Amino acid sequence: MTQIHTINNYGTATITRHDALLVIDMQYDFIPGGSLPVAGGDTIVKPIAHLMEQFFAHGATVVCTQDWHPKGHRSFASTHGKNPYDPIHEPGIGPVLWPDHCVIGTKGASLHEELPAHFCHAIVRKGYTINIDSYSAFLENDKKTATGLSGYLSNRGIKRIFVCGLAFDYCVHFSAVDGARAGFEAVVITDCSKAVNSPATSVDDAITDMEAHNVRFCASADLSF
Ligand SMILES: [Zn+2]
Repeated sequence: MTQIHTINNYGTATITRHDALLVIDMQYDFIPGGSLPVAGGDTIVKPIAHLMEQFFAHGATVVCTQDWHPKGHRSFASTHGKNPYDPIHEPGIGPVLWPDHCVIGTKGASLHEELPAHFCHAIVRKGYTINIDSYSAFLENDKKTATGLSGYLSNRGIKRIFVCGLAFDYCVHFSAVDGARAGFEAVVITDCSKAVNSPATSVDDAITDMEAHNVRFCASADLSF
């Protein structure tokens, strides 16, 4: 499995008002202690909080996303009487089933309290359609229902998006790819993202797909303000 910090290929970047930081799904259920914990998710809270402050202070746009599911969502293993991480292939759902997570209004669905919400211009919620999941911040998993984020960013003059958060192989991956497909230059900040690693090939598959869509990779230390 590829270590994601080894794939950086973007070089350095100076952040301007034409840039946006997309902070993906930094919610308690995805952080150790939550129902769908991503290993190391807690270790990227402070670095992302710092990035949010820096982007905001320099006139760039900061957007946080929140996975936001109704009870009984079709992506939950419990809905099917199956076990978490069992494979599933259903339109808009899969390739695996998940533990119940990020149920609307619960603590697990809340953004981590150490993220400075006051440095966030907008919060995009996704996954609220009961029978369709939404790994991407731009499109639901039917690949056609838009969240509105593309228009929001375009209207604000954004040309380039920096994507970080959870999880590298799912929501970060699909957000970066759909952002690139929508015409934004898309860069993943690899040291501010952690992977689920399920199924076993998910990280390598995600890297292959992102590279095929011209998504690039950098470290937070490559950014200057
Ligand atoms: Zn979800």
